[in-house]
Amino acid sequence: GPVLRAVGLSRVYGEGESTVLAVDGVDLDIPSGQTLAVTGPSGCGKSTLLHLLGGLDRPDEGEVWLGGQRIDLLGERALARLRRRAVGFVHQDFHLMDELTAAENVELPALLAGDSPRTARHHAAALLDRVGLADRDRHLPSELSGGQRQRVAIARALVNEPLVVLADEPTGNLDTAATHDVLRLFADLRATGQTLVLVTHDERVAATADRVVSLRDGAPTEDTPLAAGGSQL
Ligand code: ADP
Ligand code: ADP
Repeated sequence: GPVLRAVGLSRVYGEGESTVLAVDGVDLDIPSGQTLAVTGPSGCGKSTLLHLLGGLDRPDEGEVWLGGQRIDLLGERALARLRRRAVGFVHQDFHLMDELTAAENVELPALLAGDSPRTARHHAAALLDRVGLADRDRHLPSELSGGQRQRVAIARALVNEPLVVLADEPTGNLDTAATHDVLRLFADLRATGQTLVLVTHDERVAATADRVVSLRDGAPTEDTPLAAGGSQL
């Protein structure tokens, strides 16, 4: 079955007269290994949907299934544990810890998940090498470019070998060269069978996916497979 599944998913913000139906009855099956781009104008519900899919937020209606397990009904602790192990989240503005080095940022989720310091260190080093930053491991985020910071954040998202990587406008704060680096990295991930969901309003980014879902007012209006996904790089 699909690695990630949404069934009748809805999320309402606010109360009384000023409510916003941010996600409106979304059904979505994401097969293992797929790179899915979610696009649409600002405010159409992309971020909210991504947060629901990753267990960072809870739906008002519907179900979220990750790796065959229903996650929207889990308690806080179980959900936090599952998120740590099964979901790698990449943010537009990186969300790195400023006072930790690149290597320490990548190690942190592994340590929190219970890996030994030695295992976490080895795994982080291998991932920094994979994203082309082996020689930046002792740098602080403030000593790295935007593209380098995002590559550290991607390494961090991968450290616990998640079932899915969820990326919210991952190239939104990057210049063209850095965007290209990040897209190439996603193409590498895709080649290894990593399931990836990326929210983007950048058509060049969406064009690298296997499939594009367009949202309007919280609901899909188009769901398009791209036969040549990834080959535009
Ligand atoms: P997108 O990521 O496509 O820009 P969002 O998911 O951020 O869309 O937002 C969808 C809708 O929900 C928008 O109308 C937005 O203003 C609203 N919204 C998002 N987050 C909140 C929040 N925490 N409280 C109230 N409204 C919100
Ligand atoms: P994005 O669309 O990339 O999530 P935003 O700047 O729209 O970025 O949202 C940043 C934060 O503000 C998010 O946590 C979102 O939930 C919240 N937010 C967005 N719209 C609203 C809103 N209308 N009211 C309250 N919070 C909001």
